Amino acid sequence: MVASWLVDAATSYNHSSLENRDSYSAFVLLPVRHLETILNWAFKALPDEILIGFDPLDTMQMDAEVIEACCGAEHDGDLFAGQSFVIGEPHLVNRGNSFSVHHVPEEWIDDLFSNNRGSRGARFTHWMHTHPNCVAIPSEADADAAQHTDGVDMILGIEFSNPDGSVFWFDDVEGVRRTLKPPARSWRRWGRRRQRTVLGRSSTGHRIHGLELIAYHRTGVGINVLLVDDEGIPHGLNMDSR
Ligand SMILES: [Zn+2]
Repeated sequence: MVASWLVDAATSYNHSSLENRDSYSAFVLLPVRHLETILNWAFKALPDEILIGFDPLDTMQMDAEVIEACCGAEHDGDLFAGQSFVIGEPHLVNRGNSFSVHHVPEEWIDDLFSNNRGSRGARFTHWMHTHPNCVAIPSEADADAAQHTDGVDMILGIEFSNPDGSVFWFDDVEGVRRTLKPPARSWRRWGRRRQRTVLGRSSTGHRIHGLELIAYHRTGVGINVLLVDDEGIPHGLNMDSR
């Protein structure tokens, strides 16, 4: 079962995704269970970033009511591969720094066309990588790596403090921010007591202060993300017929 703090954060994130749906030309549905798996991997890999590959879950087509609720005014239903399916199981592909994480080891890229398929071999439809203690805004290396993605690229920014209490959070970057922090629990800026709100805890004992998640298409346009349950229904979306 997914931790309740993560479901709460996903619900708040989805509200914002729905409110802002007209700003996006497409959306993806990511099971929140996968986000929890990825967070576990991410903390075990610190201080590295990790790269995760996904394929569409071809047994789970998006629900028609969900599509109707999530489509914005400028919706383009034919923007990327796997667009009409819920995102499938995550696969941990690589770890490294902000540059090397995108360069998958050669033995892993084993097909003849790898030279034409980018540094990640483009084996999966969708990709995600983490930004430990940094906002989820793509760097130049991230934008380059996304050029061979058939689906979407996602970035998960994780704001945490170390078990010894030390913290570092880098947010001096321009771009659209999408946080999973419920607004009521947003952290107070360095106050007299120097305490930040704790959103949840990782399996490694790190305190998680916030999460950010974005998705984008190789052309540079942002893709809306909704976090869904195991039935493919976004957390917090009220559906009359259910
Ligand atoms: Zn990055």
